[in-house]
Amino acid sequence: MLRAAALAAAGLGSRLGRRLLSAAATPAVPAPNQQPEVSYNQIFINNEWHDAVSKKTFPTINPSTGEVICQVAEGDKEDVDRAVKAARAAFQLGSPWRRMDASDRGRLLNRLADLIERDRTYLAALETLDNGKPYVISYLVDLDMVLKCFRYYAGWADKYHGKTIPIDGDFFSYTRHEPVGVCGQIIPWNFPLLMQAWKLGPALATGNVVVMKVAEQTPLTALYVANLIKEAGFPPGVVNIIPGFGPTAGAAITSHEDVDKVAFTGSTEVGRLVQVAAGSSNLKRVTLELGGKSPNIIMSDADMNWAVEQAHFALFFNQGQCCCAGSRTFVQEDVYAEFVERSVARAKSRVVGNPFDSQTEQGPQVSPAAADGSGCLEPAWRSRGGLRLRGRQAWLQVSALPCGGGAAADRGYFIQPTVFGDVQDSMTIAREEIFGPVMQILKFKTIEEVIGRANNSKYGLAAAPFRRSEGYDTHIFYKLLLNLVSYYRVNCYDVFGAQSPFGGYKMSGSGRELGEYGLQAYTEVKTVTVKVPQKNS
Ligand code: NAD
Ligand code: MG
Repeated sequence: MLRAAALAAAGLGSRLGRRLLSAAATPAVPAPNQQPEVSYNQIFINNEWHDAVSKKTFPTINPSTGEVICQVAEGDKEDVDRAVKAARAAFQLGSPWRRMDASDRGRLLNRLADLIERDRTYLAALETLDNGKPYVISYLVDLDMVLKCFRYYAGWADKYHGKTIPIDGDFFSYTRHEPVGVCGQIIPWNFPLLMQAWKLGPALATGNVVVMKVAEQTPLTALYVANLIKEAGFPPGVVNIIPGFGPTAGAAITSHEDVDKVAFTGSTEVGRLVQVAAGSSNLKRVTLELGGKSPNIIMSDADMNWAVEQAHFALFFNQGQCCCAGSRTFVQEDVYAEFVERSVARAKSRVVGNPFDSQTEQGPQVSPAAADGSGCLEPAWRSRGGLRLRGRQAWLQVSALPCGGGAAADRGYFIQPTVFGDVQDSMTIAREEIFGPVMQILKFKTIEEVIGRANNSKYGLAAAPFRRSEGYDTHIFYKLLLNLVSYYRVNCYDVFGAQSPFGGYKMSGSGRELGEYGLQAYTEVKTVTVKVPQKNS
């Protein structure tokens, strides 16, 4: 496919596409097999495939059709116990993993990236089959970021070291950055491969061992990567991957007495359970990446073409299933009417349908539950008559039910791109995460007012202002907004790099992933102090 067509199909907007994926670096997108075969559907422990101890399985669904792709082994407590034992053994002093040079850990991570790159077309297609996101996005965005993440952390493996410290007296003091140990990692379904990379990259670079539970909606790509981990040459037990459900396999990890740390990405509600389970078992370390209701603030002097496209992208990207989605679009009153009109037009032009079609911008939601949002919406796939608000006014317009996808229109979990205008701060749709293609537009007058309203949220994940002027207002934005969210962008949205950290303030989570900061969660700092001969002796 031509590069320009690929970017357009990626739904990134041509200008954003050019910025996100520089033209020179953007590969052509090879045609996928739309029915990729599933090779791995069991539990991966000690570099081997196992059925669940219970022999139970569960179906994973193709959200474009609602049909079962295949059955997958359903891990539970007994399987978690086996995986933790394998991981603990791989972490024993003297094991191949513990004896391995740090630079060799980096080499293994780079080799894993090479294998993922070799199988990129297949993995992107499998991701689309299991999750529903457009194939062009899987290939150009998800896989690109996965590769960069593994390579970035490969580089860190032999560079994240301690310090020498000039303490008083005849002592020599230094720190070592040691691995935490057995890391439980629980990942969601919205970016299955990418969340796997964000978690495995820093954990393995720093010498930890992993028991990962993948989301029940999207287990397939992570299991394929498990086999690449083996092929790359990681010793048995270093990475163990369990498909299964949250209250069973997930809870078995968070409450396990021999798991040293848990890293979780998902809902704030479950994040709370994870923290409680960690606290009431062995006080394992916890990092959480949770929900958000992020303000995206459009000032009247913003470049309107750019702001409309970016605000659309900020919300609708990935079917609206992003924790950092710009899900409260605040627009200054003088440009409000124009902005709403243009945002509705953009939403109506959004191409919804078969995610393997190269023109598709939006595929299905991952599951019926996800398509139901947080209870605000009557899903289109159920009512067929279009979206209806439950007990709320003020919805503007929606585009026609899935267009461009043919058969996708009467099956699968599709939702029409939806725009709500005149949203009030007190409405549920302005306070709770919807996690779907549903945009909320709110009107404001002054900067002071909008910053107060933007910060009036239990969440603190992302925020962005769009404006031309730099001056007085810059100061106010930095002072007030920067202290309350962790991921702050100016005149752009959803620009990620493996190098820069990501995470949440307030109920959006704790700890940071990515960048050098992301390594902290996977290391304990040991201080070594040695008595040395007296200075003047
Ligand atoms: P979830 O939080 O239930 O699931 C995320 C992961 O946690 C999955 O692997 C799941 O199996 C696991 N899990 C569930 N219950 C658990 C438990 N008691 N102990 C341990 N692990 C458990 O998310 P969901 O139900 O798939 O989606 C619901 C909402 O979560 C979404 O609407 C959205 O608001 C939010 N969400 C956020 C993100 C994010 O990136 N921050 C990702 C997915 C979902
Ligand atoms: Mg699925």
